[in-house]
Amino acid sequence: MSNQDLDQLRKQVDELNLQLLKTINERSKVVQEIGRVKEKQGMNKYDPLRERGMLDLIKEHNDGPFENSTIEHIFKEVFKAGLELQKDDHRKALLVSRKKKPEDTVVSIKGEKIGDGNPHFIFGPCAVESYEQVAQVAQEVKARGLKLLRGGAFKPRTSPYDFQGLGMEGLKILKKVADEYDLAVVSEIVNPADIEKAIEYIDVIQIGARNMQNFELLKAAGSVNKPVLLKRGLSATLDEFMNAAEYIISQGNGDIILCERGIRTYERATRNTLDISAVPILKKETHLPVLVDVTHSTGRRDLLLPAAKAALAIGADGVMAEVHPDPAVALSDSAQQMDFNQFDQFFKELTKNSTIRV
Ligand code: PEP
Ligand code: MN
Repeated sequence: MSNQDLDQLRKQVDELNLQLLKTINERSKVVQEIGRVKEKQGMNKYDPLRERGMLDLIKEHNDGPFENSTIEHIFKEVFKAGLELQKDDHRKALLVSRKKKPEDTVVSIKGEKIGDGNPHFIFGPCAVESYEQVAQVAQEVKARGLKLLRGGAFKPRTSPYDFQGLGMEGLKILKKVADEYDLAVVSEIVNPADIEKAIEYIDVIQIGARNMQNFELLKAAGSVNKPVLLKRGLSATLDEFMNAAEYIISQGNGDIILCERGIRTYERATRNTLDISAVPILKKETHLPVLVDVTHSTGRRDLLLPAAKAALAIGADGVMAEVHPDPAVALSDSAQQMDFNQFDQFFKELTKNSTIRV
């Protein structure tokens, strides 16, 4: 075979490659269209029976020289890529996605603009225990020029015998303190039926990790005109987390703040494993502000400051941490809440040598 023949054959291969490329891309467009139809009808993207049918038809027409097993392998890769494309389209179509809305969402809470590029802070006790306890923390928060106070009135506890929170009474305490100190309050709601009433008392509805996939609660929070702080579920993937936020936004409420609070892994040195890379991923994939809860992720007082620094360094829009007048006697999370001295140290260290504005 002359060099000229070889050149000719290579030219043919190049042409066939381009034909294949065109065919594969044409196929992918049809697959995308199928994906859109399935999406509308709420159908599953992956249909194993259909895939089996397609493979059988292809093999029936296979005249070689490739073996059927090789052909099957090649086409399965093509099918897989098509399915990925459909899933990608689905992700891009989410209302929370940056593809849908390129600009950052800024959530305004009594003048505090979460997501405006400056770090924001939410401090307060794990649980509302009394008016005096919340008021003391409010004073510390206020003294630092901060605006956002947290406190749980409905506490989802692992054991039913542990303190369950003061319920509506707790929300009333928060409201009283918020009014007196001109603060905004964040508090967890666990029951969809409580949302309407609760929003008279609080400024931000928190949906806790254990309820991230409580779809009725998400829908109820999405139907009111109040910012929602959505925490990542204990074992939730980021995809599940974003879809949980989608439940809220799809009902009309786009004032959503995502909160990474650690996930369960095999590691026992910390209460949960802070998934720090979740922050830039969520910032990239969605337009929503992202906070990091350093208390529940680490479960360790000695790690609150480094975790908070890491959160801000990696691009979080803010940090949440628990502060209690006397953590040793706190009714929940006594091991990791900061007392006022620790809080002072923590906040000074976190905001020193930086451009952090509060
Ligand atoms: C909380 O913030 O009070 C809380 C219970 O956190 P999580 O839902 O993240 O466990
Ligand atoms: Mn807590």
